[in-house]
Amino acid sequence: YTGAFGANVRFILYRLRRIAGPLQVIGVSATVRNPSEFAQQLIDAPVYVVEERGGRRSALHVVVLYPELLGQTRCVLDVATRLVRAGRKTLVFANTQQYAERLTYLAREEGLANADVHRGGLPPELRHPVERAFAATPPAINPLFCTTTLELGIDIGDLDAVVTLMTSYTRFLHRAGRAGRRPNREAICVLVLNPEDQLGYYYRLNPHDFFSDVDPAFIAPKNRFIAERQLIAAASDKPLRPYEVPDAFKPVVEDLLSRNLLRRTPSAFLPTREGRRLLRRYNIRGSGSRVTIYCGDQVLGERELPIAINELFPGAIYLIRGRFYRVEQLNLSRDGETGIAILKPDPQAKGHETRALATETIEYFRPLTEPRYAWKTLVAYGEMRIRISVHGFVERDLRTGTVRRAARFESPTSYCFDTLGLVFRAPPPVAAYNDRAIERLSREHRMPEHAIPRSILEAVSLRDLLGLGGAFHAVEHSLIETNKPLTGGGEVGGLSLGTTGVIVIHDAVRGGSGAAELLFRHFEEAVRRSLFVLSHCICKRLAGCPRCTHSFKCGSRNYPLFRLGALESLLQVRNHVPSEFDFSEFLGMEGLVDLPTRSYAA
Ligand SMILES: [Zn+2]
Ligand SMILES: [Zn+2]
Repeated sequence: YTGAFGANVRFILYRLRRIAGPLQVIGVSATVRNPSEFAQQLIDAPVYVVEERGGRRSALHVVVLYPELLGQTRCVLDVATRLVRAGRKTLVFANTQQYAERLTYLAREEGLANADVHRGGLPPELRHPVERAFAATPPAINPLFCTTTLELGIDIGDLDAVVTLMTSYTRFLHRAGRAGRRPNREAICVLVLNPEDQLGYYYRLNPHDFFSDVDPAFIAPKNRFIAERQLIAAASDKPLRPYEVPDAFKPVVEDLLSRNLLRRTPSAFLPTREGRRLLRRYNIRGSGSRVTIYCGDQVLGERELPIAINELFPGAIYLIRGRFYRVEQLNLSRDGETGIAILKPDPQAKGHETRALATETIEYFRPLTEPRYAWKTLVAYGEMRIRISVHGFVERDLRTGTVRRAARFESPTSYCFDTLGLVFRAPPPVAAYNDRAIERLSREHRMPEHAIPRSILEAVSLRDLLGLGGAFHAVEHSLIETNKPLTGGGEVGGLSLGTTGVIVIHDAVRGGSGAAELLFRHFEEAVRRSLFVLSHCICKRLAGCPRCTHSFKCGSRNYPLFRLGALESLLQVRNHVPSEFDFSEFLGMEGLVDLPTRSYAA
């Protein structure tokens, strides 16, 4: 019950108390590192912790692989194939919905005819048969590729093997716990680290950190978006009396009244018809705003906003149950709450994938807490409105990554959302920013087709774009990619404002999840870990490599990047070089973006 989901649970307990009176709440966890603090936040009452150590039922072998030569996808497919051929019932956890789909497609192509997929976003009538077929003895589906959907809860019978991609240690424990439940039968759990990833590289050099990086459980009690919906729900449970509204949420109620979502009677607040309608679309597992996916008049699934904008733009390739579709149209409602994507099966898309090319701007920023100093760097945290614009896309071969075509839209597909995030200004590199280094960098680091919108290219010289923009962009990648464990598994996106050094890291969920707040509070530790990876990577490239500066979420195809510049900039932060900013100067500026995807936690 962490993140946005935890915030919802906290409200549901508040609503239960309104109806049922005082409650005794019992919570159980095998993995929370801070049970007392966390439970207090969650249930909003004093907590007593009872701790107990217990054993497992049967032997579980844990293997950690770092497939330096094979690569992640190849390695996962090989391991799954061996396990299935040896008659082992195997569940594979992928980190994104579309990656689970691609693995399923590739596994079938390689002769695992009974491979299938179970993921969020598929309608129940597609998911339930898969659950039953996998639970059967012997299983009619094997292997099964899934996302977090099968981590807990759903009964899928006994497993012999679990394969998982990089995830937090807490989630790893949940996943491993799916195997080896039968007494006297050994089971195996394989963790495949991504050799093309900064966190994978960090753990390769510091493997013990993986097993001690237990997520701090966190919730986002101040999430306004969730508060609005839960307060309307509370008023629907029974009329909400003014004294029942917690002080922190009184302004939210005023706002709901002014937007005609609640109405005032002499003694209480009641939901309006508009308010009830908003509630019907709400889902506590996500922020509630989503795109419905259609093929003809059949609903094939849904995808949460804002992530949907990166995956369902016009022209995007989208996989559903291992089949290839192409997005024909994406229509978003004016309020940003809902949308419709119309897809068509596309045989020509088979074996391909698309990646969005995008930029972001910050439309407003309002600090929520006092800014703090990390050493002498000012870091602010608050509410912000983000406009994300997809300008085009590249289409690549799924196996080799070879680019088949790149396209740029006449007018971008845009989406605006409010969320929470941190802002700071990275100091410019001085020593690394010299003629010879930039010249070498420009020879080594060619701009990929269409990667940077003309509006950004025309504003700066190539020298500044590479030497400054590249350094700051790499700082942003590094802070996000190396520090996923610090955000408690909550996904964040980021943007780097050109050559200014201003970097924004924000929650990937509408209304915020609290993940970026953890990074804000642990900023020094984040800088230390990033410095470790940036300085230890053995690549000789000035731009860096997937292990030290790249991000698979990058909306500008990992361009520009300048590893040495990033290293120097972060060293200045750690060496107490003062850095402040006035954020009002940067509102509306277009920046290079790293798209929210929910990769770590699906
Ligand atoms: Zn490198
Ligand atoms: Zn990027």
